[in-house]
Amino acid sequence: MKLRMFALGLGFALTAAFGAQAQPSSAKPMTFPVVQGKTYKFEKVADGVYYATGGVGSNNVVIVNDNDVMLVDTGTTPANARNFVADVKMLTNKPIKYVVNTHWHYDHTDGNQIFGADVQIIAHDFVKEMISKGDVLTKEPYKTSITTLPPAVLADLKELKPTPPTRTYKDKLVIQAGSREIQLLNFGRGHTGGDTVVFLPKEKIVASGDLMESRLAYMGDAYFDEWVEALEKLKKLDFTVDLPGHGIPFAGKGLITAYQDYLNDLIVKGNELKRSGVTPEDAAKRIDMTSHAKDFPQITGPGVDVRGTRRLYAWLDERGGG
Ligand SMILES: [Zn+2]
Repeated sequence: MKLRMFALGLGFALTAAFGAQAQPSSAKPMTFPVVQGKTYKFEKVADGVYYATGGVGSNNVVIVNDNDVMLVDTGTTPANARNFVADVKMLTNKPIKYVVNTHWHYDHTDGNQIFGADVQIIAHDFVKEMISKGDVLTKEPYKTSITTLPPAVLADLKELKPTPPTRTYKDKLVIQAGSREIQLLNFGRGHTGGDTVVFLPKEKIVASGDLMESRLAYMGDAYFDEWVEALEKLKKLDFTVDLPGHGIPFAGKGLITAYQDYLNDLIVKGNELKRSGVTPEDAAKRIDMTSHAKDFPQITGPGVDVRGTRRLYAWLDERGGG
């Protein structure tokens, strides 16, 4: 374990010493035809494939198949999910048959309860485990989020009943929906213990959830080195457009490499601070990731989310590093 840490550190040092190829790769806005719903804006990325933004929580994906519809992620509240489903009716009258949860976080799954028994809610095994047994309402990221959500959203959460998936898988699940092939893929642990990437091989589109956003993702449940490896597997898929769980659609794989660099750099810097006795709270203030601001413009100064450094320290302990 220690050897591996050292190897990662050395890798970073070499990159830094020779200067990373400073190709700015921040997500460039792509333009698609738009259908504006009451709540959601739908960008038509391909025939029957829409990227949905404007709700509370996750950005979602709508996949209209020959006979039915798949939704990817359900947002933060049941009321929001009802608004989402109402807006989807502007796109198609076909019935919703599948709902995919890309991972267990509340902002992707707390609309699940509005769907009836005729709808399959599909996710990785770990999502079921977390939502049925993980006591998710007393834990991060929900715990802190309810201190920041607006009063109207909090009111909507009164009816919330965390609802686990009804169908799960481990490594790969292929759904043939009429003429459309939809692959659900897990590349190991990363953003969480069970992330799903939805891949449309024919359309060369991927919906990557929070495993890969166009911005920096929450790291409070991360498996940092496995995340980097999972992103490597993501890059191997033959796709041209990524529809992330938050942010904007982006083309190509440069941003994914930039995010791998960010995570590797964070591991090294966090490990150094931990070894020198700095608390995770102070590390959150001190870690300077500003060299990644060209790829992730939300970085405007030193510091990262303290839930990320707390998790990083815990993960370093789990790994036997530090
Ligand atoms: Zn998430």
